[in-house]
Amino acid sequence: MVMELKWGETPWDGMSREDLLREVQRMYAAVNAAHSVMNLVSLNQPDHLFWGKEGSGGRALEMTRQIDEPLRERYGDGIHNALLRYALDLLFDGSTYRIGSGWAVCPVCGDMYGRRVDGVSSVGTPCSDHLRKDCSGILRPLEWSDLETAAEDQSSDDFKLKKGMGAIE
Ligand SMILES: [Zn+2]
Repeated sequence: MVMELKWGETPWDGMSREDLLREVQRMYAAVNAAHSVMNLVSLNQPDHLFWGKEGSGGRALEMTRQIDEPLRERYGDGIHNALLRYALDLLFDGSTYRIGSGWAVCPVCGDMYGRRVDGVSSVGTPCSDHLRKDCSGILRPLEWSDLETAAEDQSSDDFKLKKGMGAIE
């Protein structure tokens, strides 16, 4: 059943702060991806009216630019490095399309592995198949609590090194 909105109401009005932030993160990630793709396509068709000031492609590209560019100028790759590198796995359903890195986490030693070169996730495989030969853990999917732990440990170079292991990006 389609719910009707009154003037001024939005689908996000009833969300908690945390849910709203997650939704902003999802939307930013999608805008960022859409902007990159549209920009690439527009560069291959520089004279096409569709990508001009009056074209729907040009207008859509400009809307995404106005969201993406100020954040990119302020933080560079910071947003990606701080959140999206890992959070894409949790913000979107990547079961059909390869969204995110397919992070697999060892509950015993905490090591993380991205998707294998052949595209298959390491979730469910023994940690001992990877770099830590003496670990008994079975890799599980990434959870939000892993990222919260990551934020607490962010000053540790050792942590960053560990989290970067096995990454395919
Ligand atoms: Zn392990």
